[in-house]
Amino acid sequence: MRSLSGIQPSGILHIGNYFGAIKQFIDLQDEYEGFYFLADFHALTSLPDSESLKHNTMSAILDYLACGLDPEKSTLFLQSDVPEHTELSWILSNVTPIGLLERGHSYKDKVSKGIKPNTGLFTYPVLMAADILIYDSDIVPVGKDQKQHLEMTRDIAIKFNEHYNKEVFKLPEEKILETLAVVPGIDGEKMSKSYKNIINMFLPEKELKKQVMSIVTDSTPLEEPKNPDNNITKLYSLFASKEEIQAMKDNFTNGNYGYGHGKTELYNKILEYFAPYRKKREELENNMDYVEKILKKGAEKARDIASKKVSEVRKTVGLMGRN
Ligand code: ATP
Ligand code: MG
Repeated sequence: MRSLSGIQPSGILHIGNYFGAIKQFIDLQDEYEGFYFLADFHALTSLPDSESLKHNTMSAILDYLACGLDPEKSTLFLQSDVPEHTELSWILSNVTPIGLLERGHSYKDKVSKGIKPNTGLFTYPVLMAADILIYDSDIVPVGKDQKQHLEMTRDIAIKFNEHYNKEVFKLPEEKILETLAVVPGIDGEKMSKSYKNIINMFLPEKELKKQVMSIVTDSTPLEEPKNPDNNITKLYSLFASKEEIQAMKDNFTNGNYGYGHGKTELYNKILEYFAPYRKKREELENNMDYVEKILKKGAEKARDIASKKVSEVRKTVGLMGRN
């Protein structure tokens, strides 16, 4: 059984990406044949400058490895090392109704946040369908925001299979951990690279602390009771034990416990949780040759599978180009 997923290197990765996606990749790596990539073609939809894209791509691969993705168990690669994804995306776009894309929540959310949509952002789910279907993936571990994109992937696969009257594509299932499905950002909205509301676990301590301290709260005075289900406790719950979470909630309810106190406890937990990964990342940063080798090996393996699938698709649709 195959598990596949990707993250866009559209900014530095954050604890939402970790809990929604990377942690699942790692937890599944003994059970599934894993394919995990960096969706750099997808990242182009936000038109990053080329230096940032390069930097974010290498930074994200270090994040994957530092968090415990094991290249001996899973295939790690860059999407742009497998151009067949874009070829398949073009072919799939022809069985994708515009109406399906117009209903995209993620697309609509981004537009409502003032992001100017280009065609790439609009057709993002078609490329994502290609990413998934090209490897005959069985499951796709993701955060909840991607649920609809998986439904679209199945719709597109069904349309293709029906039109060509052949079971070319397997229908994949999303794998979402309900408890970690949507990690809130410092403003309470979904934590997203593109919403600039992130907490990045690999920042130097001072900057990390600054991010945690900027979590948005109301202005209830220190001595007064506060809503125990605030943004700080929600984030703290990702790291703390049941007892610790209850203790923090009680503190907020009782008063004389300020948001600053809660943020400091959260900051300490984040540092403690990620300490071994932060150390490993530093080691990897000094060993980029090793990282390059992993990407090269991953690209070869992924491309071998993807090109076979695309040959089958080309034949199925009647393209006569020689490849
Ligand atoms: P962008 O703002 O550029 O879309 P993003 O932060 O949403 O970036 P993606 O690359 O789109 O990150 O998503 C990568 C993976 O991380 C997906 O599986 C997605 O579901 C998951 N993910 C992203 N944000 C969260 C979050 N706040 N909580 C849980 N999972 C998340
Ligand atoms: Mg996203």
